[in-house]
This record gives sequence, C-alpha cells and structure tokens, in this order.
Amino acid sequence: MTRWLGDHHEIRWYPGEALGRRRRVMVCSSSREIAISSEGQPIFLAEDDPKLQSAPQILVGTLFDVTYYAARVAVETEGFEFAPLRPVLINLASEAFIPVNAGMQLIDFLEEHQFCGRCGAEMVQSTSDRGRVCPSCALASYPRVSPCVIVLITRGDELLLARSPRFIDGMYSTLAGFVEAGESAEHACHREIREEVGVEIDRIQFQGSQSWPFKHSLMLGYRAEWKSGDIKVDGIEIIDAQWFNIEHLPKLPPQASISRGMIEAYLAERRG
Ligand SMILES: [Zn+2]
Repeated sequence: MTRWLGDHHEIRWYPGEALGRRRRVMVCSSSREIAISSEGQPIFLAEDDPKLQSAPQILVGTLFDVTYYAARVAVETEGFEFAPLRPVLINLASEAFIPVNAGMQLIDFLEEHQFCGRCGAEMVQSTSDRGRVCPSCALASYPRVSPCVIVLITRGDELLLARSPRFIDGMYSTLAGFVEAGESAEHACHREIREEVGVEIDRIQFQGSQSWPFKHSLMLGYRAEWKSGDIKVDGIEIIDAQWFNIEHLPKLPPQASISRGMIEAYLAERRG
C-alpha cells in the first residue's frame, strides 16, 4: 500500500546507476520549473529528441527498466510548457515522483556546486561517484540531503495540527523542522515541538520517510503522544495550533505528502 509519494517499498530504485534498457530524459527550466504535457504530467523525452539540443544529460538513476536523466534548458526554449515543480509533484500519483524528485535535486546540486566552497576553483565531476571535486584542493561535495523531522502528535482521538502562514487557507498540518548539526532526530522532535507549540511529547515512533526537493529535504516521519503542556504558538512560524477530534478534522495536506499519510494511518487505526 502506498501511503505517500516515494513510499514504494516494492520499487527498486538505483540512484546514479544506468541499468535500464531504455533511456528517458526529464526536462526542467533554468528557473526550476518542470516541462509538462498538456495533461500537466512531467514529460520524459528520448535521449536524441531534437528539443533537447545540446543540453547536458545528467544521470539520475534507474527505475524498473528505464534509466532516467535530467536536462536543464532555457525557459524560453521552443516546444516546452513549463510549470512550477511543487504543484506538479504534489499531484503526481505515480512512481514518476522518484526520478523527477531526484533529477531536480541533482540539477540543483550541479548549479550550486560549480565552484569550490574552500578555495574558489572551478569544480569538476568526479569520475568515480556522484560528487563534484575541486582539482585544486581536492575538496569533494555530494548532493546535499537535509534531514527534517515531521511529527504527528496524538492524544487519544485528538490530533495536534498547526498552521504556518505559508499554508493555503484553512489547512492544518503536522509540525516539522530541520535537524540541527549534532542533534539526533529524536532530540529534534522534542525541541521542535517545544519551540513551535510549547508541549512535551513522549513515545516517539518512526513511521517512514519521504524525500522532498524543497530543497533537498529528507522528511523523517514520527508519531508521538502528548505528554504535558498547553498549546502556545510563537505567532511567527506557527500562527495557530489546535487539538482536532478525528471526526472533525480541518483541511489537511495533499494525499501525496508524508504528513497526510501519517494522519490517514492513525485514523485507520483509531477507527479500526
Ligand atoms: Zn578547492
């Protein structure tokens, strides 16, 4: 059962490996948009499609029998329709999420690691792995992955859900925050929840993870039980947080998100 995009336990995905018999290229623009079909789905072109012109094709990985590459073309290139990545991804209900998500993160990485962060020399592609290497001082950089905890807090038939000012009207979600350097994911759960809504939690259980390209995040999903404290929000990162009974929930995040997946899994358990 797929609970959220990218949570395909049965799917074999080989990052950075070219094992497929076919080759397909996802296309994004210089402004981080993705090329879509008239149905709003990401398009995958043959490697020799003339529309790709001479754009470099970056190896992304193999899913089933197809090796995926990513190419970036100028936004004004003829023959493409581009759309912002987030709404396209969130409405993707197929395993195409995996190469599109990975491809966008690789394109970002290449763009952001053209020069060495230590000595400023131009970096080159490593011949042995996915890294970029500095020919002058040998510093190696790899596609960044930033762990982020996302926590569903429960209290029997109630869920603690919160609103960020960025959310669409009326939507409430689980709480999330980046793991700080030197911190465990579990410490980050306690700290984030304390900072954002002022409550203490207990019995933290890992639920699963989701890679997410805004930007290079790895969402680590946890469920936790409320332990003590009343909700107190900071009014900046979180503008409102409430306990919601599972029979009277507000507008929730899209089906594709790990947040929604964890909420649905809890509802299914409570309702038996
Ligand atoms: Zn260097």
